[in-house]
Amino acid sequence: MFEIKVSAEFEAAHRIAGYKGKCDRLHGHSWTVEAAVTGTKLDELGMLVDFKLVKGRLRELLEALDHMFLNDLEPFSAGINPTAENIAKYIYSEMAKAEFLTEDIKLKHIQVWESPKSSVIYTED
Ligand SMILES: [Zn+2]
Repeated sequence: MFEIKVSAEFEAAHRIAGYKGKCDRLHGHSWTVEAAVTGTKLDELGMLVDFKLVKGRLRELLEALDHMFLNDLEPFSAGINPTAENIAKYIYSEMAKAEFLTEDIKLKHIQVWESPKSSVIYTED
């Protein structure tokens, strides 16, 4: 089994509605997002999947979030708090639509760091 990981960053503001404390107020983070893809079969070049494809898709998704107020964006505008957990789940669901994923090449998890020491992993395993 091979597992490849790529990561990228974005900066955005959010507020956690209903939180009893400072996180209820508008504030921002520099988020780091990692995508992990697994599989067992390598192509003729010896690659599971080109890093460039995974990184490209991840960057495209994060570009839409960069320097935004996350609470205003779908799916969070429907009243879903943009916590690290919900951001990870959202990015997972969007990343799972990538064309390079197949029967043999699967998205394993999305990990989101809200700070260097605090992260969440979302997986559907
Ligand atoms: Zn926060």
